[in-house]
Order: sequence, then structure tokens, then C-alpha cells
Amino acid sequence: MSNTPIITRFAPSPTGFLHVGGARSALFNYLYAKQNGGKILLRIEDTDKERNKPEYTEGILEAFKWLGLVFDGTVIQSANFATHKKYLDKLIADGHAFISKEKVVEEGQRAEVIRFKNPNKKIAFDDMIKGEVSFDTTELGDFVIAKSLDEPIFHLSNVVDDITMGITHVIRGEEHISNTPRQILIWEAIGEKPRPIYGHIPLLLAETREKISKRKHGEMVSVEYYRKNGYLPDALLNFLVLLGWNPGDNTELLSLDQMIKQFNISKVQKAGAIFNIEKLRWFDKQYISKLSDADFIEHAKLFLPEWLGTSGPTFKKLLPLIKEKVASFSDIASLFGSGSAEAGVNSNAASAGVMSGELRFVREVQKYSADQLLWKKNPSREVARKHLEECARILNAVKGKSAEGSPDPNTDLNTDLNAESIKSAMWPYAEVHGRGDVLWPLRMSLTGQEKSPDPFTCIYILGIDESLKRIENAIETLKD
Ligand code: GLU
Repeated sequence: MSNTPIITRFAPSPTGFLHVGGARSALFNYLYAKQNGGKILLRIEDTDKERNKPEYTEGILEAFKWLGLVFDGTVIQSANFATHKKYLDKLIADGHAFISKEKVVEEGQRAEVIRFKNPNKKIAFDDMIKGEVSFDTTELGDFVIAKSLDEPIFHLSNVVDDITMGITHVIRGEEHISNTPRQILIWEAIGEKPRPIYGHIPLLLAETREKISKRKHGEMVSVEYYRKNGYLPDALLNFLVLLGWNPGDNTELLSLDQMIKQFNISKVQKAGAIFNIEKLRWFDKQYISKLSDADFIEHAKLFLPEWLGTSGPTFKKLLPLIKEKVASFSDIASLFGSGSAEAGVNSNAASAGVMSGELRFVREVQKYSADQLLWKKNPSREVARKHLEECARILNAVKGKSAEGSPDPNTDLNTDLNAESIKSAMWPYAEVHGRGDVLWPLRMSLTGQEKSPDPFTCIYILGIDESLKRIENAIETLKD
């Protein structure tokens, strides 16, 4: 085998979008092939006419394009039909398969299927991940390999394609391990090539240790979900490669090239790997933090509210704040409380501590009542009003000072005005008169929100003039 070039394959059935478990299998195949100077082929197994849909094939191809995994060739299985049939005929002619008249219970008729003549023997193979695996095939009986002479089914088509495509390594999800003995029997009956080497990758599990599935876990099982929600493909690949494997030290951030160098399939753990979306978000945050501002904005645009734009002073002031807060770009939609076109986005954001609607105030102050302006430990309108008036006075002074400094009327981004400088102007007053007493009404007057960034950051983002306007309105409200 040593001189045979390594050829692996990923063989999805287009009955749904690309599953994250499928993406991981494809990645493991890719890494194994590339680190051995081999090839990886994509085979779309579209022979189950009832369950396949062309849009799923499109979706799978799109997903790989997005992930940046490039195959060395793509095969559409149905195009190989004549070859599958040729091998079916040959298996029958050689006595390895036979036409069987089956009773169709409902219609009381007999239909023909083609069954494989099981030699009923013990089969053992050395799995790249699981080690020695053995089966007694007797219990499989004479299993069906074609619905008719013109309709070969999964096991046969799969094996014939692996043979004719020169596949040397079949690396796939553990859910296929029960197919392997049947496929080995077919492979041996055809007898053209030595068996491939098999590797069965352990399942992806939810925190509850059950297999993750679309039915139970929804859209988050598909790669499409992460693409739509603005995750970075490199982050997803990095997360996937570490599900069941690690490089042996504490390195977590791995580029595709580093993965090719370091991946070791024999070190993939035998137990199922937990798919922890918070960990994925951590990876995404790491990769987001490496983006230049220009790249960040390019990705963020899809999720930013339209009214904000990306060229004005407000956006420039918000950018570092947004960068610091988001772990996936779809969190941006959450921050502005505009929701998102994609279902499920906010639940992830919320569980990661991104407060929904935190930046809503940027567009306009949210409706509040006079009572909401009052600090709960000191609920006096008089006191709140006095503090707001003093805050306005301090801000006017800050404004006067910065106007003497280096104001830039076009951008409102003069260097000496920032959240820190605003804080140092206001903090002494708050310290003396009680932080809650001063800062609660101030923040509420600026935002109308129970939760938001601190008031100094809010003032910086809004600009002093807009902040003063909002504070004046609050003072009026307290007079009512
Ligand atoms: N088409 C099969 C599936 O998607 C995969 C077969 C294989 O990898 O051998 O489940």
C-alpha cells in the first residue's frame, strides 16, 4: 500500500444542509489526505431519489466554499449509475448476488429485489480510530443491494464508487460502522482491489450526551446556521478540529496549515465529543479580534442597523465597543435590539452575556417614566433633579473646555474628549453625593434603559449636545 497515493473522500447524501458533524468528517479526511500528499474527493450520494433535493447539493457545495475546504474533485453519484449496474450484473453472474422474489404483504404480490449472498463469515478490520473491530456477518443475512436490476442501493453504489474512485481510506462518522461489514463483504466479492482502511469518527454529542440532531437541536446542527449568523469560517474549522482531537499541548488556535501539520487521526478520542456552542463563540471571538477594522466592518455590515451607517462619527465611537462585545457578528443585531432575520440568534447572544438592546439608546432614548429616573435607595424627585442639573453644568463646562482645545466640528472626535475624560470631570461629584444617586438618573436620562454602557460612555457616544438635550428632557419630566 505504501506506494499507492492516498485518496480520501467525503460522501454526503443531499437530504439536508451540511451537518456540523459532516463538516468535521470532511475536515478530518481533508487533513489526513493533505498531510500525506494525497487527495480528497467530494462525492454527492444522490441516488435516494425520494429524499434528495438539488438545493441541498447546492447548499453543501456552498458550505464548503465558505469553509474554504477545497476538494480535488467532485463526483455526483447518480452519474455513475451505469457502473453501479455493471457491477451489480457481475455480482449476479459470479454468484455473489441473486434475484429474490419477495412477497409484498400489502398487495399480495411478489416483487424482485437483489440480495447479496452472504458468505457468513467473521470479519475484522483495524480501524484508524477504534483499533481492532470484528463482526460476525451471519446475523446480517442475505442483505438487499438493489431494489431491481436497475436500482442499485446505498451499500453497492457506495462500494463501487469507492473502488472506481481509487479510495484508499474511508473516514466517516461512527454511525456508519454497522455498514462497514456489509461493505467489506461486497468489496471482497468484487475482488478488484485491496480493502480500504477504515476510520470511524466518534459522534458529536449535546451537553446532555445525546447525539446532536436537527430534530432535537434545530438549525444549530447545520453549517449554514453559522454562515448565516456571521461566524468566521476559520473559527468554525478550528472549533471542529478540536472536537475529539487536540495537538497534545494547550494550543487552541490553529490555522488550516497548522492543522495539516499537526493532526493525527490515530489520536482522535474514541468517545463522543461534546459540541459546546459557547466554546465555538469563544473561538469566533478570538478570530474576530484578529480582524482589521476594515474587515470587521465588512462582516459587521450585514448585522448593523441601517440608520447607523458606517462612516459617521457615532459609528467610529461605537466601533471599539461593538468589537469588544460581540462573539459572533449576529450579536450586533442583538445589541441594537433590532432582532435578527435569523431565528435563534438572540438566545446565543444572551447566554454569552450580550445584553439584548444594550445600544438601542444610540438611535433614540427609550420611553421612561419619572419614577424610573429615581434611584431606588433615594427616590426623591427633588434630589434626582438637583443631580441632573449639576451633571448638565459639569458637561457644559467640559464642552467649553474641549471647544477651547482641539475640537473637530466635522467628526466630533477630538482627541481629548472620551469616556475617560468625561468620567474624570463627573466622578468627583458622584463620589461626594452618592454614585447611585447621581449616576442612575443620569444614565436613565441618556438611555431610558435598565441596562446600557456606563453613563460616561453613553455621553461620549451621543456627543455632549445630544446628551445635554436628553438630560434637560429628564429634568423637565421630573418637574411634572
Ligand atoms: N452517503 C452517506 C451518508 O451521507 C455516507 C457514506 C459514507 O461516508 O460512506 O450518510
